[in-house]
Amino acid sequence: MTQHNFEAETGKVLELLTHSIYSNKEIFLRELISNANDAIDKARIKALTDTGYLGDNSEFQITLRRDEEKNLLILEDNGVGMSEDELHKNLGTIAKSGTKEFMDKLKQAKENAENNLIGQFGVGFYSAFMVADKVEVETKSNESKKAFKWTSDGKSAYEVSDSNKTSRGTIITLYIDEANKELVTEWKVKDLIKKYSNYVAVPIKMDIEQKDEEGKVTGVQLEQLNDMKSIWTKSKTSVKDEEYKEFYKTLTMDFKEPLAHIHNNVEGVVSYKSLLYIPKDKNMFVNMDDPNREFGPKLYVKNVLILDNCKDLLPVWMRFISGVVETSDIPLNVSRELLQSNSVLEKIKKGLTKKVIWELQKNLKNNSEKYDEFLVNYANQLKEGIYYEQEGKADIAGLVKFETLQGKKVTFDEYIESLENKEKKDIYFIAGKSKTEVLGSPYLEQFRDAKVDVILMSDPVDQFVVQVLKEYKEYTLKSVTADDIVLTEKSEEETKKTEETKKDFSDFLELTKNTIGSAKIEKVELNEKLGSALGALKTPTNWVDPQMEKMMRAMGQAVPEQKRILELNPNNALVQSMKEEFGKDLKSEKLSEMMNYSYNQALLLEWGEIEDMAGFVQLLNKFAGKYMD
Ligand code: ADP
Ligand code: MG
Repeated sequence: MTQHNFEAETGKVLELLTHSIYSNKEIFLRELISNANDAIDKARIKALTDTGYLGDNSEFQITLRRDEEKNLLILEDNGVGMSEDELHKNLGTIAKSGTKEFMDKLKQAKENAENNLIGQFGVGFYSAFMVADKVEVETKSNESKKAFKWTSDGKSAYEVSDSNKTSRGTIITLYIDEANKELVTEWKVKDLIKKYSNYVAVPIKMDIEQKDEEGKVTGVQLEQLNDMKSIWTKSKTSVKDEEYKEFYKTLTMDFKEPLAHIHNNVEGVVSYKSLLYIPKDKNMFVNMDDPNREFGPKLYVKNVLILDNCKDLLPVWMRFISGVVETSDIPLNVSRELLQSNSVLEKIKKGLTKKVIWELQKNLKNNSEKYDEFLVNYANQLKEGIYYEQEGKADIAGLVKFETLQGKKVTFDEYIESLENKEKKDIYFIAGKSKTEVLGSPYLEQFRDAKVDVILMSDPVDQFVVQVLKEYKEYTLKSVTADDIVLTEKSEEETKKTEETKKDFSDFLELTKNTIGSAKIEKVELNEKLGSALGALKTPTNWVDPQMEKMMRAMGQAVPEQKRILELNPNNALVQSMKEEFGKDLKSEKLSEMMNYSYNQALLLEWGEIEDMAGFVQLLNKFAGKYMD
C-alpha cells in the first residue's frame, strides 16, 4: 500500500467541499452516475474497433447497492475502468480545466457566494466527499492485468493498493457520514435518480424491496430506476401527439393543452436537441407573466439535468415558454458564471428564439382560433419583445393583434391589407389609456367619415410599442393627431374657403391664445376635421405622445415641458358664437370664460383630469343655469 498526497490545488477543492455547508449535497450522485456513464461510453467506443474488448461483460449497466446498517452506498459500472496511472492522474489531481477555473472563482468568492458558486454545477468526483467521510474506488481496466483500489478520507492524502477485482469496470464505495445517512435509504436514492439521472442512456439498477398487501417486505428484486429514453431525444416521427401532451403536463403542471410544441434535433457548429412548448392558457400554478420568476427550459448535458431553469437559453420576454434543451457541447463541470458567458448557450438561444417566432407565425396562419386564445393571455409579453428586441422587432410586431376603430381585431399585415389606399404607406393609430377614452377622441371623426380604419393602442403596454416601432415593413406608424394627415383631397374651391376662414379667424385665435395664456399653450389653430367636436389638443410630430408622457412622469422620469396646440373646429356652433361675440365685444367676460372653457374641455378629454377641477365645475354649473332659464 502506498500513500500519496493530493496535488496542492486538489487539496483545496476537497477542503472547500467537505467544509461547505452547501445545501444541495445530493448532486454527488448525479456526478458519479455521469462518470460511470462516461466510462461506459468509452468502452462502447473501444468495442467498435476491438471486437474482443467486451468479452462476456457486454451488457452495459450501472448497479447501485445500499447498506443501511453500515451507511454504505455502492455504485458499480462496467465501463473502461482505470489503470494505476490513470487513477493517479484522474483522482489525484485536478486535470479538468473546468474544475480549475471553478477553483479560481471559488478562491475569490466570499463565504456565501461560495455556496452559490457550487450551485447546480458539480465539481465532479470530489463532490462525493460532501456526503462521505471515506471513499473507495476499486477499478480494473483492460489495459492493465492488475486491478487497483484507491482509498481516501478526502483530507490531504489517498492510498492506492492492489485489488482482487477481476472484471472490467469500477466499483465506488461511499462511506456516507452520519449527517447524511438519509442518502442510503431506498426512497432517497430512487428519488435522486429520477430527479437528475432519469434520462441517462444506460440502465441504472438497484435491488428494490418487494412488499405484500400489508406492506411487509417479502424480498428484493433488481429493478431499473431510470426511464432512459427521453422524449426529446427520440425522433419526431416516433413520438405520438399524446406523448407530447402528457410530457407537457408533467413539465408545467398546466392541465390544459399547449398551443404548440417545437421539437428539434440540430446538428452543426453547435448540436442540441430541444423540445419547447408554447402555452395557450394561463397557468394556474405559475404566473408566466412575472418577470422575476425563474424561467427557461431545463438544461441537460449528456442526459444529466444541469439546471431546472436555464434563463440563458431564451430572451426574458419568452418566459411563457417551457421545455427541455439537451446538448453535449458544454462540459458538465462548468460553473454557473462560466455558463452565463458560454457561447454555445448563446448560439442555442439564437436558434431557439427564431424557432419560437416561426412556430408562432405558423399558428397565427393555420391555427388562428387557438392562437387568439394564446394572444389573450400572452400578447403583452410579445409586445415586450417588440420593445426589447432590436433586430427582430418587426417579426414580433407581426404576431400581435390590435382592435380597430371599425371594430375588427387585426395584425399589422391585415390592417395594411384592408387599406383602400395603399400608396400612402401609413398605419394610423390612436394611443390612450382605455378603449372608451380613445374612441371619444375628436381626431377619429375624419377617419370615420373617410371610412379609414385606425388601430387602437389602448393598452398601457401599447405605449412601449409606439415608442420603439416607428414603422412596420415599409409603412409608417402615424398618430391620428399628426398635422399632415390628408384623407380626402379638397377641391380648389374648398381650399380657397379654408384660406378665407383662416384669415377671418386669425385675430380671434390670437386673442384665444393670450386669454388662455402662452404658458399653457403654444398656439391656437383651426381644424375642420374634428367632426362635431368643439376642439382638441394636438401633439406636434416628434413630441412625446401624451400617454407616454403620463407614464414617464408616473415613473419619475423627467419629461421636457411640452406646450400643446389647441385646435378649434370652425364648424362647431360654440366656436362660431365665440367668434361672433369677439366681433361684438372682445373684452367681454363671457368670451374669455368660453375661451378658457374650450381649452379645459380639450384637456379633460385627453387627460381625464384638469388642475382646476373645482373652477371648471363651477363654470359648467353656470352654463347649466343658463340651460334651465
Ligand atoms: P470529469 O468527469 O469532468 O472528467 P470528474 O472529477 O467527475 O471529472 O472525474 C475525473 C476523472 O476520473 C474522469 O475524467 C475519469 O477519467 C475518471 N473517472 C471517474 N469515475 C470513473 C469511472 N467510474 N470509471 C472510469 N473512470 C472514471
Ligand atoms: Mg464527472
